[in-house]
Amino acid sequence: MATIAFIGLGNMGGPMAGNLLKAGHAVRGFDLSEAACAAAKEAGATIAGSPGDAAKGAEVVVTMLPSGAHVRQVYTGEGGVIASAGPGSLFIDSSTIDVASARAVAEAATAAGHVMVDAPVSGGVGGAAAGTLTFMVGGSDAAFQRAEPFLQVMGKTIVHAGAAGAGQAAKICNNMILGISMIAVSEAFALAEKLGLDAQKLFDISSKSSGQCWSLTSYCPVPGPVPASPANRDYQPGFAAAMMLKDLKLAVEAGQTSGASLPLGAEAAQLYSLFCNAGNGGMDFSGIVTMLRGRSDA
Ligand code: NAD
Repeated sequence: MATIAFIGLGNMGGPMAGNLLKAGHAVRGFDLSEAACAAAKEAGATIAGSPGDAAKGAEVVVTMLPSGAHVRQVYTGEGGVIASAGPGSLFIDSSTIDVASARAVAEAATAAGHVMVDAPVSGGVGGAAAGTLTFMVGGSDAAFQRAEPFLQVMGKTIVHAGAAGAGQAAKICNNMILGISMIAVSEAFALAEKLGLDAQKLFDISSKSSGQCWSLTSYCPVPGPVPASPANRDYQPGFAAAMMLKDLKLAVEAGQTSGASLPLGAEAAQLYSLFCNAGNGGMDFSGIVTMLRGRSDA
């Protein structure tokens, strides 16, 4: 069993660290939020005073942070984990961040004699709690092999996507599909309502027809058809709209730097931006249906 530093014990990191503890690993956690630290302590982690302190003496460092800036700070900032961890440590960054930051941090870790993978996830807080996340992994074959047993504790599907940054590239592409498809499903329910078509009937038909997709069948944005979806609990996240906006911005930015044309990705980013600017950033991303229903009245 390993000693694992876990930095970022939020909605995702908390339950992921919990699964490492349940598997018998020792977890040294750190988060800026006292509440997140208290919950991890309750689950059996020891709490360190800084990311560097958590990394000292740990064989593995896992990070689950909001954005690229946070990841750069925790890895390469003053007292960061790259400088503090023992030689040849394994770093796993599961945050969703830009490809450039992922590659920069991996390069710095490798230059310091460590091994690193970017390993963003899909599956949400439910998947994090159940240990059924999908990991999209970027890094060398050797780094992937070292990371895989730890990822298996937290997830069910582990895919080696390619070299450093490839996991983030996969995640950004996947979430652009998700953002666009959630808007498509929401628009369909808004239109059905105007046409006098019952929401449950649309669900029963489209979930068995060519409109079938995850945003409809697993995460339906209107209450009723999928009892576990956030629509049934006033759009409590789940996956916050602000996080979806962040991911769509990453996709648009990646489209600009790579020359890919993303007309729907750009439109989705704009709609989520409108939704978040209206004070809904903390709502689940499926709550965008409430804005689209309003828009269809205009
Ligand atoms: P969250 O805001 O709940 O957790 C992030 C945590 O990081 C917070 O507790 C915050 O206090 C902590 N933090 C920030 N800066 C820190 C620092 N310098 N040192 C230590 N801790 C710090 O967010 P989340 O929902 O857990 O998401 C984390 C990452 O996972 C994001 O990149 C997100 O895009 C990605 N993600 C989230 C979901 C989801 O459904 N929530 C799904 C897939 C991927």
